[in-house]
Amino acid sequence: MRRSSRLTVMNREAGVMAVTVLVVEDEEKIGRFLELELKHEGYGVLKAQDGREGLELALSGKADLMVLDIMLPELNGFEVLRRLRKNSDMPVIMLTARDEVMDKVAGLDGGADDYMTKPFAIEELLARIRLALKKRQGAARENSSVLSCGGLTVDTARYEARFEGELIELTHREFELLRVLLENKNIVISRDTLLEKVCGYDYMGETNIIDVYVRYLRGKIDDKYGIKLIQTVRGVGYCIKD
Ligand code: CA
Repeated sequence: MRRSSRLTVMNREAGVMAVTVLVVEDEEKIGRFLELELKHEGYGVLKAQDGREGLELALSGKADLMVLDIMLPELNGFEVLRRLRKNSDMPVIMLTARDEVMDKVAGLDGGADDYMTKPFAIEELLARIRLALKKRQGAARENSSVLSCGGLTVDTARYEARFEGELIELTHREFELLRVLLENKNIVISRDTLLEKVCGYDYMGETNIIDVYVRYLRGKIDDKYGIKLIQTVRGVGYCIKD
């Protein structure tokens, strides 16, 4: 799934994340009203007046969330949503005419995040936009590759360890040891298991090598930042506790 990168773009003027909302609505009055209100709230706004243009803009990755009307020329809202979902998990809030319950059901089945019944209070739409964005950010965080404990964060995709933002220089095996311990937070791991995971099952070198790496890590993290990260469990192994 393609994820929009716009959430990470800084809005220098406001000093906050600039989030762009795509409004797909053929009724010009509603479209203009939404544009004004959203801009007033600090959002960037893209507009489309038919389903085809809306889908194109949505797939362009220039917007973070879409407000999508159902009755649209070219492609209706359901069709836009159906095609969008093949490539993108962008949050979508559908606009439906009053009491069109079947539309709501179809919208949710089709992968909409939420829907609003027209006419709607703008405050409610704004609240739902905030909620949908927050949910999506939460989901993104869960899927991310960052492990953490206290001030320590380890990004396994970037191969970076930091303490309160400061980069910690680690060798490959130090990093792997830290990663294994963090992935099993609050669980005591035996030296044998650590040896296998960090050095490989066919490792033939010194068996106390894990103790040596733990000592190195303590020097680079515990001693430097005055914390007690890695606990020794006598006779068993090591553990990182929350
Ligand atoms: Ca319409």
